[in-house]
Amino acid sequence: MTLYSMKMRASRTEDGKNEHISGAERILPESALIENAGAMIDRALHHAKGRADYIQVKIEEACPEEIGYVEALPVSTRESANAAEGKEAILSLLRKIGVENGDAVMRKFGETYDMRGAMLLDADTLERLEPDPARGIRATYMDAEHGENRAACTGKNHFQEAVVLASKVANAPHILAEICVSDDPGYVTGYVASKKTGYVRITRLKEKNDPNGGRIFLYRGPREDVPRTIAYLEKQKILVRNAPTAPAPTPPADPWRVLAEEVERRKESGLYRTITTLESAQNAHVRANGRDFLMLASNSYLGLIDHPRVKNAATEAVQTFGGGSGGSRLTTGSLPLHDELEAAISRFKGTEASLLFGTGYMANVGILSALGRKGATIFSDELNHASIIDGCRLSRAQTVVYRHADMRDLEAKIKAARPSFGIIVSDAVFSMDGDVAPLPDLLAIAKRYGLLSMVDEAHATGVIGKTGRGLAEYFGLREQPDVVMGTLSKSLASEGGFASGRQLLIEYLRNTARSFIFSTSQSPATLASAKEALSILEEEPERVARLQDNTRAFVAALAENGIETKSDSAIVPIIVGDEHRALQAAKQLYDEGIFLSAIRYPTVAKGSARLRAAMMATHTEDELRAAAKKIADTLNRLP
Ligand code: PMP
Repeated sequence: MTLYSMKMRASRTEDGKNEHISGAERILPESALIENAGAMIDRALHHAKGRADYIQVKIEEACPEEIGYVEALPVSTRESANAAEGKEAILSLLRKIGVENGDAVMRKFGETYDMRGAMLLDADTLERLEPDPARGIRATYMDAEHGENRAACTGKNHFQEAVVLASKVANAPHILAEICVSDDPGYVTGYVASKKTGYVRITRLKEKNDPNGGRIFLYRGPREDVPRTIAYLEKQKILVRNAPTAPAPTPPADPWRVLAEEVERRKESGLYRTITTLESAQNAHVRANGRDFLMLASNSYLGLIDHPRVKNAATEAVQTFGGGSGGSRLTTGSLPLHDELEAAISRFKGTEASLLFGTGYMANVGILSALGRKGATIFSDELNHASIIDGCRLSRAQTVVYRHADMRDLEAKIKAARPSFGIIVSDAVFSMDGDVAPLPDLLAIAKRYGLLSMVDEAHATGVIGKTGRGLAEYFGLREQPDVVMGTLSKSLASEGGFASGRQLLIEYLRNTARSFIFSTSQSPATLASAKEALSILEEEPERVARLQDNTRAFVAALAENGIETKSDSAIVPIIVGDEHRALQAAKQLYDEGIFLSAIRYPTVAKGSARLRAAMMATHTEDELRAAAKKIADTLNRLP
């Protein structure tokens, strides 16, 4: 059957310059010509690059004996995360094809950017072989073989057109490979094609918005055959058999390999985490791996975990109510202990009501995802705890992060965001630096702009303020933030979290906080421990005073040994800087019987790794002074 080659070229004249807009070509039976010509013209008139003012449609007869047939190259995909990875993929494919100087080839790419056609490049000498370097070589006269019934398929299929072109080119005499990067600023996928590798899509070969693209045909053969190669590329009519219309989906990666690689990456970068198991109740001294340690990393600031009253209360609760609670608070899991503990927390914090959550983490996630309604804005300190960050992520609110404790930045960001419903959230005591949030200013700003205020008192309850009531007491304020969030897992020697505030807040959270609604409530022993610890805290405020004295003594002892640091709480950061040095110091101190954490990126910024010492009311000043000296000596000894 006689076929016809049909080509369309569309351009536009702008400022006296002729600008190419679009081109297309097909090889078709007569019956499909009119419909396809219409489609091509339509494309030229409605192109993203603009409307053509000059359209040329050329139709030539192609006798059956003029047409060659080639099989489509098999298609595969290589994922690359960025342009650099994409280039690496090109180089490795070129090596496979026997081209070792891929880097030099890629340096030639810049010369192709202004060419309409491709560069024909000697793979070894890197000589350009096109007779007209400005024009380049245009591979043309080709189409996918559609067969009778699909002859009138008129849609544009960029992928299939690319495979058709690459399959023709790969079959040209002496062509080793083709490298193609699109000049479309929005299209970052390109390919390397050769008979040996097939058509390999590389998902990212350039960065988005880069308008540069080009095409290189790599040639390896006798110089006298170059005209034959060019004639094939530019004149030989080719139909490509079995050209796919879409790339096959990437086969799924072995999921276990993906996980193993992530674990390996963490090991290599010093971020792998391990667990140390304690063999005693947690107090100022602990046992681990059969040895005794001075504990300088515990959150049990008041040392109440193994207080006899706490243990007895837990035991009694288990005797009365058993092991678990048996349901969520809204189903079968509400015990008198829940109500009593909530009432005790409200009394302690001076609020109307409180709501318990399974952990402090769940409290933050539940509160913020419930308050962070659609259309709301959450203003969050950049050093807030991970559970606050996760709460923001789970919410439907927009999150705006302000510079650490910087109230000017906060106010500027509120002004810029003009929230219709907003929440300011901050750690009360920042867990890695031990400093406190500037609550008076924060509350004033919240009031000025009609926003809710929320503080996380995880490291403040039982620690700061004369009687350990937290941040408001620390600043001598009578007023609490709108949402006081806290944990039972630190000073209160148990586990769990809470929200405390107005009755309406608690009612709202009880109905909307998903980590409250859809999770089993705390068990009897947990509740009783926390309740008893809170009673001890209220009855014996001297414990808080001892904790605060201990912090002062430890900071002073560090200073005497040449380490300047400060703390407004029970957390004392000792900045080391380098991640590996911090790890090494913690390890050496561990060997000397001091249990201390090295905190590294991503918990803190890169290059600000630190030892983080946590004080307890049950430490003695003497042992803290001795520890300060050991820490200083260890740091001084490090290279
Ligand atoms: N907020 C802060 C500031 C914390 O440090 C922590 C615990 N490290 C939490 C919330 C989470 O509390 P919990 O351990 O009770 O889940």
